[in-house]
Parts: sequence; structure tokens; C-alpha cells
Amino acid sequence: MSDLFKLQDKTIVITGGGGVLCSAMAVALAKAGARIAILDLDEVAAAEVADEIQSSRGLAVAVKCDVLNKESLESAKEEINSVFGKIDILINGAGGNKKEATTSPDLSFFDLPSEALQFVFNLNFIGTLLPSQVFGKEMAESGGGIILNISSMCAFSPLTKIPGYSAAKAAVSNFTQWLAVHVCQNYSKDIRVNAIAPGFFLTEQNRFLLTDEKTGELTARGKTIIDHTPMGRFGQPEELVGTVMWLLSDAAKFVTGIVVPIDGGFSAFSGV
Ligand code: NAD
Repeated sequence: MSDLFKLQDKTIVITGGGGVLCSAMAVALAKAGARIAILDLDEVAAAEVADEIQSSRGLAVAVKCDVLNKESLESAKEEINSVFGKIDILINGAGGNKKEATTSPDLSFFDLPSEALQFVFNLNFIGTLLPSQVFGKEMAESGGGIILNISSMCAFSPLTKIPGYSAAKAAVSNFTQWLAVHVCQNYSKDIRVNAIAPGFFLTEQNRFLLTDEKTGELTARGKTIIDHTPMGRFGQPEELVGTVMWLLSDAAKFVTGIVVPIDGGFSAFSGV
């Protein structure tokens, strides 16, 4: 049974690996024996995660990388190959929303700046597509590999206030299916592409929407989310790990082109 979920000696590239959700994945995957490359625009955050892994005798390398810049991705790929020799798995974790692309009493839909909307769309969608080109090409050449994207609840039905982020994550889910088919038809039946759609986890990208900056209390939006989550709470980053390990291992060998919600029941609940 444990062989089914084996990730020993796999090289896993994690973009946004310095962030809250992906650092939890990185640490857990390293404990499972995988070699982890943490790619992040924030090199300090990436180095901290790599240090944490190395201090528990895991194998990790931190690489400063911008997922929106192909040259930066290519040079990260070279660096990872020179350290680990090969790349087996890509987790497209870099993403997020920003305040300027979010409607509020001070910022109407009609005034949302196109630069902010474009920034959010690019970070989530193009920031998933470009690493899939760069690392996916190596998988196509070697005849095998796995790509895991990070979608969101707002891909299933849009969330209020965040039109750019909702559209971008819907594009990520759509692209997950598209790429899963494309690689099988054109390159290898042994390349799988899936996504997870986390529900609500308190992290830096949504803290300003879900909790009050001064008191730390839940905002009205935060309360609505908890009311619509049958399990009645936010998720913990570690609760993504089991599903991620399933999708990255042979246990999911015949699974490609799916988006798995990890949401405490949020997407199953109509509100009534
Ligand atoms: P986070 O902000 O903690 O992590 C995102 C990381 O991406 C950061 O370390 C950041 O430095 C890095 N990053 C930003 N721009 C980059 C770029 N151009 N190149 C490389 N790295 C870059 O956010 P998180 O909440 O851990 O989110 C991780 C993923 O999960 C994102 O795709 C997010 O959209 C998605 N997600 C989060 C939630 C949630 O509730 N937090 C829910 C659903 C989906």
C-alpha cells in the first residue's frame, strides 16, 4: 500500500513554494523523501522553507524565480537540473489576489484599474501556463511527469468582489483539462495534469478580506464563508497534503484532467 503513494527520490518543483499553502506541501513532500525545488519571487521566503527542510535532513533547494518571466523559469530549470539531475513533478502554486483588484465601498467595479485586474489574471493564469511550458517540455522529452495546478472555489462559481481572480482561477481549471488532453494526445500517456481547488485558508492574500486588520475578528465576508462551510471552519494548510500526495503518486496513475475541491464541503452546499 505504501508503495502506491511513494514519492521517494522524485524531484518536485513548487512555484510559490515560499508561501503559506505551498510551504506546507513542500515540507510534507520532503518528509516523504522527495527532492524539493522551491521557486519564489521572494527569495528570503524560499530560503527559509529550504532551510526548514534541510534542518530535518530533507533535500531542498531555493531558487529565486518569476513565474511570469520565461527566461527566469529557464534559468531556474537549469539550476534545478544541475542540483538534482531531473525534474519529475511541477506544482504551480504561485498565485493570489490583490486589494486593488477587489471591489469595496471605496472601489466600485466601474473603477477597478485594468492594471490591477491584469496583474491578478496574469499571475494566476499566465503564471501557471509559462512554468507548464518550461517544465512540461522536459516532461515531454523524458516521456513522463506530473503537473498539479492550484485552482479555487471561485472557479466553480465566482466569488463576490474578486472578478479578476475568479476569472483567472476558472481559466486555471479550464487549462488543467486542456493540457491533460493535449499532452496525452501529442507527447506521452504518462504525463498527468490535475488541479486542487482549496476552499478557504487564512493566508496573506485573503487576510484583508476575511479578518479585521485591527481586531483580527472575522469580517462579514469571513462569517459568511464559515456559515457556508458545512465543517464550520477555515482549512489548515496541512489538510491539503493528503490529496496532493494522492495526485502526485501512482495511487492516481489513471487520474488526469480533474480539479479536486478540498473545502470542508463549501462547494457542495447551496446555502439552503
Ligand atoms: P501566499 O501569498 O502565501 O503564497 C504565494 C507565493 O507566491 C508567495 O510566496 C509569493 O511570493 C509567490 N509569488 C507571487 N508572485 C510570484 C511570481 N511572479 N513568481 C514566483 N512566485 C511568486 O498564498 P497562498 O494562500 O499560500 O496561495 C497559494 C496558492 O493557492 C495560490 O495560487 C492561491 O491563489 C491558491 N489558493 C489559496 C487559497 C486560500 O484560501 N489561501 C484558496 C484557494 C486557492
